[in-house]
Amino acid sequence: MSLSRRDFLKYGATTGTAVVGGGIDLTPVEAAAASLRIKEAKAFPGVCPYCAVGCAQLIYVKDNKIVDIEGDPDAPHTEGALCPKGSSTYQLSLNERRISKCMYRAPGSDKWEEKPLDWMMEQIAQRLHKTRDETFVESVKVGDKPVTVNRCEGIAWLGSSVLDNEENYLIAKLSRGIGLVNLENSARLCHSATVPALGASFGRGAMTTNLIDVQHADVIMPTSNWAECHPVSYKWVMKAKERGAKIIHVDPRFTRTSATADYHVPIRSGTNIVFFGGLIRYAIESKKYFHDYVVAFTNASLLVDPSFKTPADLDGLFSGYDAGKRSYDQSTWKFQLDADGYPKQDPTLRDPTCVFQHLRRHYARYTPEMVERVCGIAKDLFLTVADVYCSASGPDKTGTISYALQLNQSTNGVQQIRSLCMLQLILGNIGRPGGGVVALRGHSNVQGATDFGTLYHMLPGYPAAPLQTPHPTLTDYLEKTTPKGGFWVNNPKFVVSLLKAWWGPAATKENDYAYDYLPKREKADAYSHQHFVIGMHQKKVRGFICMGQNPAVDSPNAKMSRQAVRNLEWLVVVDLFETDTAAIWKEPGIDPKSSQVEVFFIPAAPAAEKDGSITNTMRLAQWHVKAVESPGDARSDAAFIVDLGNRLKELYKASKAKKDRPVLDLVWDYQPQGPKKEPNMELVLKECNGYATDDVTDKDGKPQYKKGEPMKTFAHLRDDGLTACGNWLYGGIYPEEGKNLALRREKAKGGDYLAHGWGFAWPANRRILYNRASANAAGKPWSEKKKLIWWDAGQKKWVGNDVPDFPGTMAPDAPRQTEGPFKGIGGVDAFIMNPHGKGQLFASVLDGAFPEHYEPFESPTRNLLSKVDNNPVAKVYDIGDLNRLGTPDKYPYVLTTYRLTEHHAAGMSRHVPWLSELFFGHFAEIGTEMAKELGIQNGDMITVETPRAQIKVQALVTERIKPFIINGKKVYQVGIPWHWGYQGVMKSARGDITNDLVASLGDPTTFIQESKALLCNVRKAVA
Ligand code: SF4
Repeated sequence: MSLSRRDFLKYGATTGTAVVGGGIDLTPVEAAAASLRIKEAKAFPGVCPYCAVGCAQLIYVKDNKIVDIEGDPDAPHTEGALCPKGSSTYQLSLNERRISKCMYRAPGSDKWEEKPLDWMMEQIAQRLHKTRDETFVESVKVGDKPVTVNRCEGIAWLGSSVLDNEENYLIAKLSRGIGLVNLENSARLCHSATVPALGASFGRGAMTTNLIDVQHADVIMPTSNWAECHPVSYKWVMKAKERGAKIIHVDPRFTRTSATADYHVPIRSGTNIVFFGGLIRYAIESKKYFHDYVVAFTNASLLVDPSFKTPADLDGLFSGYDAGKRSYDQSTWKFQLDADGYPKQDPTLRDPTCVFQHLRRHYARYTPEMVERVCGIAKDLFLTVADVYCSASGPDKTGTISYALQLNQSTNGVQQIRSLCMLQLILGNIGRPGGGVVALRGHSNVQGATDFGTLYHMLPGYPAAPLQTPHPTLTDYLEKTTPKGGFWVNNPKFVVSLLKAWWGPAATKENDYAYDYLPKREKADAYSHQHFVIGMHQKKVRGFICMGQNPAVDSPNAKMSRQAVRNLEWLVVVDLFETDTAAIWKEPGIDPKSSQVEVFFIPAAPAAEKDGSITNTMRLAQWHVKAVESPGDARSDAAFIVDLGNRLKELYKASKAKKDRPVLDLVWDYQPQGPKKEPNMELVLKECNGYATDDVTDKDGKPQYKKGEPMKTFAHLRDDGLTACGNWLYGGIYPEEGKNLALRREKAKGGDYLAHGWGFAWPANRRILYNRASANAAGKPWSEKKKLIWWDAGQKKWVGNDVPDFPGTMAPDAPRQTEGPFKGIGGVDAFIMNPHGKGQLFASVLDGAFPEHYEPFESPTRNLLSKVDNNPVAKVYDIGDLNRLGTPDKYPYVLTTYRLTEHHAAGMSRHVPWLSELFFGHFAEIGTEMAKELGIQNGDMITVETPRAQIKVQALVTERIKPFIINGKKVYQVGIPWHWGYQGVMKSARGDITNDLVASLGDPTTFIQESKALLCNVRKAVA
């Protein structure tokens, strides 16, 4: 028997003895261990706080000090590996630059002053109190009726996808409790297009599969730089390759991902819809789509209203376009209904009005020749990869597609992602081993922060944040946001349980469970990140809480954003380091006296110094345990939020005003402990999980829960006030007192390659979503090779290697349910969250029922597909000269942004010496041919300019970016990473801010910016 070095380290560390088991000769390892730092250290479970691969860590502590942080060898999804960022986590805790004292900057001052924590917290609470009261809107008239809106528009709160789930939950609860509508986290700027794209297609806005399962793919098509940006998870791609899988890398640049691929497909930024549209056309016309899967599990056979028209009919527009409003009237985007109100169907897929025939006609224009002209991909290469990728279909084969920001950050980001989802649906690649859509998230907890609703448009668990006009009462809200079929029919149970979790005994049946306490938005088109930054610039938003984010660098049109922050009355930054945002008043070139913003810096704690859970990109929640105390005044973000909530309650204590009841009635007892008032995080987790508010009996009258007991599953939630639940999706994560399933760290056992004993994957610990589709309509596996779950007729239930994402005892031939929690769902409806239980090829997305290509707002060409150049419903922010757009005569080069392995969110890695010394500084990557034309040598300083700004960086002249031939004309592309700013540990960590170049534009659904396809000019810089 052998023992790996990692096994030895782990066991040696935790037991303090060299002898682990009988028969193992440890002598040589023992001798080596004598000098190890971690000898006799205690190991605590940790999670890497950088990216959303969520590498599990072990934090070694000796004498109350962290001595080392390593990968956890038992972790099934990462197998003990860490990339450079994960390996340097140690320096987030132990770092001379870390701030452990509270710092205050008075208005107009040129220096920080150290202040006591208590004084700071009291001042912050008072600023919130004052600004809330001065900008609060209690009621508005909608028509001639008064509607309670309880809305404060003068304060913005930017939470974070690097904070824990529980912290995000507390932010969502407190901020809504005081009426904030300007609420966001960094997911808005990186992956917000993911949620509606995946949601509209499959029913949930989350990655469909599991990283470990990627090894079972026959073809993998990354459309991001997976190997460098999410390095540890790329091992599953390489394992698939070892098993014979082909890799097709679609990316404007040749990167390390391309180096591992069988085919590199260079694509002009912003044209992915044409590429995927070409693949959809190819799959249909060459009959490579998975016919039986398409008929059984997608809405291809449903008949659409005959008056519905697509851009193929209307030269670039769908029916219902209103040019004045820049929006669609979607009244023709609907199905023909039968007598039962269900869409009519044609299972032969021949009816000219069926979705499949619409799809065929819509994409008929997306020919290989069009792909070549628009995307710059040679026709022969396109046809080769089309054939290879579309071979990953049918009973025996599956393919996986991954994506990240190249598709998200666009004025049609949702539709770019939708287009690959649709390709996966027609190839039968969802819900099956080796299939799926891999959404690669950047920050560690993008998934969790999104799930917990620190976003302006939704509440924890994805119910919509109410709007004043359509949702004046709870009845209106539930009626308009609850579909007639699919699992979302349970929405009232989720919403009422959430209101009970927030307002407890004050939420009664008589007062609609305190529905009026929730702030109501004025309109859907407001309050997102870009909206409220402009609000700060215009001095409408006056106060700002910023936790774990760095909008001075991360925001689009960042130069404008920094001025916006300087225009505030007060700013609170909670972070580990003095970020560029904290130092906004002393940005180089800015006179501190010119800004009157009052700044409060509160020192925070990294993951290693607090308890909580992080949900990685595959929906896996992992709990990390506080390993050491934080230095000085530093403490968890949760402690800050809970303390602030308590102080606000105290400030409002004497108030009799109705508008203050939401603050005073907010359930807010998290038992803060010790001198730093650290809350009990398991109490927060229990609230998120759900609990009974009173003794509960089941439908047969048998006792089910005692008052206060945790809910075992979200299936037991109710809409009568007897249950409270902070986030229904996480129901079951804490099924019994003291049982935290996110804390589980059980190695993968036997055939359970999806490792169900490691952490908790929502919903209900399912590892591959929509897995009903891994069996055919009759419930049998499509093939032995690709089996996952199947119907066991003997046991009358679904069985197999994953938790079924389907009613466990609903037979494949079960008729459509007419009532109950699965209303509208029958035995072949694998996409249970969708109203008709089908994967949606046709869906109501704001800018089209199918994805249609439009050029980026800054483009080297007109749209070659139609007369409509740009997304006709995209958001263009009207801020005059602050948002001028470029034209190709003045700005001839396509600019795309990207990131590096060694750096991450700008507030973290530039303060870490081990990471900062790995890169020489800021640069822009240009091809050799372009460099030669401009007389630029590798290493020269160059100026990169857009109408918004110009920045100076070093030129990195490489063979990795080739020119594209677009509609017969040569177009050069420039690549530029975005990590740098004016704060950083060393010279190489500081540099000009890439996001200064980016325009203020937004996708119409999510308002994510267009960072990936801009126009720029480049010239040699004058020294
Ligand atoms: S940054 Fe991502 S890939 Fe690297 S160690 Fe951390 S979680 Fe893993």
